[in-house]
Amino acid sequence: MSKIVVIGSSNTDIVIKSRSLPKPGETVLGEDYLMNPGGKGANQAVAAAKLGGSVAFIAKVGDDDFGRGARQNFARFGIDVSHISIDPDKPSGVAAIMVDDAGENSISVAPGANNALGVSEVKDALPVIEAANVVLLQLESPLETVEFAIRSSRGLGKTVILNPAPACALPGEFIAQLDVITPNETEAEILSGIPVKSIEGARKAAEVLKAMGVRAVVLTLGARGAFVLSDAFDGLIPVEPADAIDTTAAGDTFNGALAVALAEGRAIEHAVAFANRAGAISVTRMGAQASAPFREELPEPEIKI
Ligand code: ADP
Repeated sequence: MSKIVVIGSSNTDIVIKSRSLPKPGETVLGEDYLMNPGGKGANQAVAAAKLGGSVAFIAKVGDDDFGRGARQNFARFGIDVSHISIDPDKPSGVAAIMVDDAGENSISVAPGANNALGVSEVKDALPVIEAANVVLLQLESPLETVEFAIRSSRGLGKTVILNPAPACALPGEFIAQLDVITPNETEAEILSGIPVKSIEGARKAAEVLKAMGVRAVVLTLGARGAFVLSDAFDGLIPVEPADAIDTTAAGDTFNGALAVALAEGRAIEHAVAFANRAGAISVTRMGAQASAPFREELPEPEIKI
């Protein structure tokens, strides 16, 4: 079984729908109220587990009901939760999301315990990393922790994937340590300084990132698929465009799927085609973790000879 370690954030998303968003100082009466598990790390871990990966998740939650609920949720998907530690002082991460009738939203995130995921927790988890093939990270944890995890995973010979989200400029030495980087258009532009408005723009941005030393750039392009630049492959891997009803966590599902396919030993272009198919399904359904497909929903395409 493919073994994947995800290192990152776990949040609870609290969503209130109302006619209009409250202005500063205003109270509006909301309608529906939803509470969903979220956080990029958690979404990617669950997506990988739903697709058949053997997943361990390294994260930190608070000593509260949200943290306990999150651990139960991961365990339900068969995720190894032995390295989800509990911070005695900080609360679990929460995102307060308000959505109006037009679909416009206002979001405030309190990272809480996610900001306390430190180098020592990653050190404790090194045996789990050693037993994995692929390590998948994002940028919702302290940069020092992410950097340590990348360096130590690389030192253990693991395939390291960084999803550089949320968007943030990164030093070149950081990028040089990676096997795969998976920015979306906005993130690619911030990292490379090249606007990504077309496939040509994607190629140029990918070339800048590749020159920083990463082995493969996988630049996601929404309904167009993903542009891949590596020594072995160079070009767009298109996706069958889907009628999107909710694009929340499309990138997270894509990254979880990419980790599964690479851990199974697929070549980058085949792994990206698999991730595209998973991402395309996720946008046709509501929610973050709920929208990620199970493996049986992703039959292998027929090979036409
Ligand atoms: P993010 O959600 O991080 O901004 P993208 O919008 O690039 O990332 O989407 C990630 C991946 O999800 C795409 O590369 C593609 O595989 C899939 N995807 C997103 N939107 C669609 C769509 N409308 N049709 C098909 N696939 C989609």
